[in-house]
Amino acid sequence: MRGSWKIARIAGIDIGVHYTWLFAFLIISWSLAQGYFPQSYPSWSRTLYWAAGFLSAILLFISVLIHELAHSLVAQARGLPVSSITLFIFGGVSNLSEEPERPGLEFGMAIVGPLSSLVLSGIFYIVRLPIGQGTFTYAIFGYLILINLLLAAFNLLPGFPLDGGRVLRAILWKTSGSLVKATNIATAVGRIFGWGFIALGVFIFFNTGDFLSAIWIAIIGVFLNSAAEGSRQEVTVREHLSGVKVTQAMEANTETVGPRLSVAELVRDIFLLKRRRAIPVADGDQIVGMVSITDVRDLPQEQWALTPVERIMTRGPIHTVTPGDDLATALKLIAQLDLNQVPVLSGGKLVGILSRANVISFLQLRQELGTKGERRFNTPPSLRR
Ligand SMILES: [Zn+2]
Repeated sequence: MRGSWKIARIAGIDIGVHYTWLFAFLIISWSLAQGYFPQSYPSWSRTLYWAAGFLSAILLFISVLIHELAHSLVAQARGLPVSSITLFIFGGVSNLSEEPERPGLEFGMAIVGPLSSLVLSGIFYIVRLPIGQGTFTYAIFGYLILINLLLAAFNLLPGFPLDGGRVLRAILWKTSGSLVKATNIATAVGRIFGWGFIALGVFIFFNTGDFLSAIWIAIIGVFLNSAAEGSRQEVTVREHLSGVKVTQAMEANTETVGPRLSVAELVRDIFLLKRRRAIPVADGDQIVGMVSITDVRDLPQEQWALTPVERIMTRGPIHTVTPGDDLATALKLIAQLDLNQVPVLSGGKLVGILSRANVISFLQLRQELGTKGERRFNTPPSLRR
């Protein structure tokens, strides 16, 4: 995820924190120190409330991380590589390089998250048993028992993309045999929950005046809605792309520029004259990089004439695809590496370029021609930038 920092590496998985998580951390600490702890333990000092607030927020963070690790470790054990886990304002997300290919695998991966939260809650309950009531430790464990129980319950709601929605999709997928049909139903339920949360937020606002909770719940609803819609589009597009090869969508253009060409010439002759957005940089037969409009944008204009392309280009390892690769796989690579385009090589020789724009226009063309395009689709998240 863009805008996140890597903080650790566990079992080969990068653990990252997105900047939005810091807001969640502060809001949670604040609401615990101002509301939750003073209500249950009125005799404590202010310092103690804040200490409990911060400590609880950190332990909540670790609880969410354990929940995500459970998903990721099951995925890895079943042969699905997980590149990273990112914690952001609404929790955590595991970034899988591939989607599960069988309903059984999806079921197992999904259910283990809420189960781990449930188990954590139980562990905190047992550990708390010998601790005296009203003490600092007792209070923190009390919060952890509650929040992990809530995490389990929330994630078990049967709307995609929540874990419960994935479980529902796995069951529908298994019984109907169709991933698209299963996804459509599970994401529709997800949107019902999304709208439900928005309505709940509005209800809370007008009935209790608790603005913070109202806004928080409504935003979760909006997030669920857009995530459900994004997932549905992703699957629809994947279906549209099934069986399509890179060669059908790529731009057959073998033009390259040399590494010592000046940026000024690049802009004039390639970007402006030929209206291209990116071009491979080749030294002899060897592709040594890619240079795009984005690379140029970072360089002050007065330096364009004196700067060679090799200074601003994106260097290797350059990810490439071949004309015979599945378009869906190539698209996944482009999305995962957050690229705009990849060179297409055949037998080590450049034969073209595949960009997000190429994939979008391919899909639009197919839709207009009516081939496999009965259903309208919007641009899925993997094609957006
Ligand atoms: Zn989960």
